[in-house]
Amino acid sequence: MNTSSLSAPRGTAIQWPWSRSFGALGAAFRSPCPPTSLAPSHWVGCNHRLLTELGLPEDVWQSQEVLDALSGNALLEGSSPGATIYSGHQFGVWAGQLGDGRAISLGEISTPLGVQDIQLKGAGPTPYSRRGDGRAVLRSSIREFLASEAMHGLGIPTTRALCVTGSPTPVYREERETAAVVTRVAPSFVRFGHFEHFAATGQIENLRALADHVVQAHFPELVPLSDTSRYCGLLQEVTCRTAELMAHWQAVGFCHGVMNTDNMSVLGLTLDYGPFQFMDGFNPNHICNHSDTSGRYAYARQPQVAYWNLFCLGQALMPLIDAQEPALAALETYKILFPEALDQRMCAKLGLTDAHDGDRALVETLLQAMQQDRVDFTVLWRRLSHAVYESAHLSHAFEPVRDLFMHREVFDTWRIQYEARLGSADRRSVGQQMLRTNPKFILRNHLGEMAIRQATAGDFGMVQALLNVLHSPCEEHPAFEGWADLAPEWASSIEISCSS
Ligand code: AMP
Ligand code: MG
Repeated sequence: MNTSSLSAPRGTAIQWPWSRSFGALGAAFRSPCPPTSLAPSHWVGCNHRLLTELGLPEDVWQSQEVLDALSGNALLEGSSPGATIYSGHQFGVWAGQLGDGRAISLGEISTPLGVQDIQLKGAGPTPYSRRGDGRAVLRSSIREFLASEAMHGLGIPTTRALCVTGSPTPVYREERETAAVVTRVAPSFVRFGHFEHFAATGQIENLRALADHVVQAHFPELVPLSDTSRYCGLLQEVTCRTAELMAHWQAVGFCHGVMNTDNMSVLGLTLDYGPFQFMDGFNPNHICNHSDTSGRYAYARQPQVAYWNLFCLGQALMPLIDAQEPALAALETYKILFPEALDQRMCAKLGLTDAHDGDRALVETLLQAMQQDRVDFTVLWRRLSHAVYESAHLSHAFEPVRDLFMHREVFDTWRIQYEARLGSADRRSVGQQMLRTNPKFILRNHLGEMAIRQATAGDFGMVQALLNVLHSPCEEHPAFEGWADLAPEWASSIEISCSS
């Protein structure tokens, strides 16, 4: 690897408060690995909000040194770039060793959000790149940048994205594209696959060191427990967070696309945005990844796949837990937690905060009607929120919702049940709560595609404007009304595969 162009910039005004957490685990976990230069580079998108949350100075975006560092052209003073080793199950099959093939961590920093790992995605080859080039294209980098922040705006746990930088350097996928780097930020990028790696290779002491690191850094309340209880507690915590995450995804119509165990975060964060999609018309069998020919990762299968993945994690932790019963019990909680979390989220979408017996059936009936007519997932809930609000004084408030259905009589029957369930509740306050729950804006494929086309032509305005809107997706943003519309015809021809 040619590192001759890398040098630590001198006299930089920006102090990065380096800290060591995962980085202190040592060489068995993380190989030193400098980024490869990507010059000349330019800013594509900058996340001002995250910058402030991290307590970093606003003039970061004016700094040539930071632009260089976040493109892989120079090293930040005090950083310790490295790539981590992991393995995993891909599409249900053991894939063996993988690792950060194109993600290079610059190190961890202390921030008001706690310790955060700063990672460059697409900054060149690492010891784990196998036959890959270690690069990411502009298209996929913009998608990851916007999706991470859209998820955050929706209140869904996710890795964050600080910026995207681009360069004219060519990268070859199905066709010639250009290279870009996303700077990702998370308290930890530890995946189920990290545990699977050390278990599968029989490195039990390293497995224990990894588990102890995760417990100390992220679940300190487990530290005083006995070994079995501590590692079972870890499995239980990951199970709980994963159940919550799946409920979040299902409730906004998010399809991840590649739920391999190496793309699952032990902190329950949405991780590795590739061929993801926020659904347009509701179809539980929707497959967003063009390469997923069997539909393993179809929308409706995600919760079940997450459970399967948790079993892989449980299996990997067995040498530490050393007792089957409590491990199975920890995993078993998923079967209670996920349906509860999903019910709670779906009921909140209907403005129902106190659980009633028939609520699940009410949600199911509506989803079946939506599926039958492929009703747009986001528009439906948003119009319903307005309808409930307006129904305080308008007799025809539900008409705009009804108009979304071809089988209007099916909707009419459902609406009568729904209004009966709402009973004497104050429609205005229920409607307001629904408008705070059901987003007006989501990152539809066609919006991402429009931003990408403009950025490819050198105009980054839409990337930045979309980022701002998606940060508060339940607000009205009247200047961007068109972005809340149904997907246009051409959106259905956008094909997203693993190639990024
Ligand atoms: P993914 O399907 O994106 O989760 O990637 C699976 C594995 O392939 C991970 O180990 C990635 O780091 C690696 N990988 C994906 N794309 C590339 C690339 N262009 N260069 C090197 N490694 C890659
Ligand atoms: Mg991945």
